[in-house]
Amino acid sequence: MTVTLADILAARRIISGVADHTPLVPSPFMSGKTGAEFLLKLENMQPIGAFKLRGALNAVAHLPDGARGVACCSTGNHGRGVAYAARQRGLRAVICMSELVPAPKVAGIRALGAEVRIVGRSQDDAQVECDRLVAEDGLVEISPFDDAHVIAGQGTIGLELLTARPDLETLLIPLSGGGLAAGIAVAARAIKPSIRLVGITMDRGAAMHASIAAGHPVDVDEVPSLADSLGGGIGLQNRHSFALCRDLLDETCLVSEAEIYHAMQALYYEDRIIAEGSCVVGLAAVLSGRIAPTGPTATILTGRNLDMEMFTRIVTGQDIELGAHIVKGQPYGP
Ligand SMILES: *Cc1c(COP(=O)(O)O)cnc(C)c1O
Repeated sequence: MTVTLADILAARRIISGVADHTPLVPSPFMSGKTGAEFLLKLENMQPIGAFKLRGALNAVAHLPDGARGVACCSTGNHGRGVAYAARQRGLRAVICMSELVPAPKVAGIRALGAEVRIVGRSQDDAQVECDRLVAEDGLVEISPFDDAHVIAGQGTIGLELLTARPDLETLLIPLSGGGLAAGIAVAARAIKPSIRLVGITMDRGAAMHASIAAGHPVDVDEVPSLADSLGGGIGLQNRHSFALCRDLLDETCLVSEAEIYHAMQALYYEDRIIAEGSCVVGLAAVLSGRIAPTGPTATILTGRNLDMEMFTRIVTGQDIELGAHIVKGQPYGP
């Protein structure tokens, strides 16, 4: 096992006071729907608006002596987390991204004091620049999910969940590269072996789900999704997150864009929470009947960094265009 409970306990000390211990609140609406107590872990309340600060802080704290700074490829929350963690330690941070990234995301990362390099038209082009910075400028790359320190940092969420509520029976975990699910699973399995752990993702371009099914990391086509923070591959040379997710999750579950759309509306109208499509997948899985929770259940509201124009269209029931795919608009009804 590449990450242990001891690593996560150590990470908790390192990140404490910066990445906040977030609230775990009941959702009366979801509890009413399922008949089981349903809880929301509010990682959307972190200072950068997403849980990724946990892993970034832990990784930056473990940089090798003499590191001149950090680099990463990220279009969103990981870039924000790395920028924040590096600034806190007075380190240089360079975030590489492609020309396709929307301007507000670039501005958000620059506002945290990081350098932004915009290169080419794909994540692969951005990766070439990141590799160059590592080779020529002596920066250390921090992977968004396939890094033992990042995984241990995200695992502190699992510690907080089971410390607050040892009676939890099911965790519904948004799943992309699997750093979040791997970390939470290491902590939760160690503390409560019988707990049910479900990784949830969208049914279009679900790289970890396809990789677990194939028995090894595979590439999938990346397509636009309402759950934009769940896009992207897991890396064909994956070292940590694939094996941990394969070995520790009980199952993975896929939800459709229409189900994500409805869950974003439900969270907003019923619980009055604004959250990214990526973090309502747990609610979507339950509301669509794909997962039937028994006993106390929690999901992680992973982030709040969404495009407000798109969000407004969703809560007012309008169509959403995702490339060639149209998510048909529908006014909210429970
Ligand atoms: C990164 C991210 C995820 C998925 O985390 P992984 O570790 O890549 O599985 C989920 N939600 C949000 C908001 C994220 O930024």
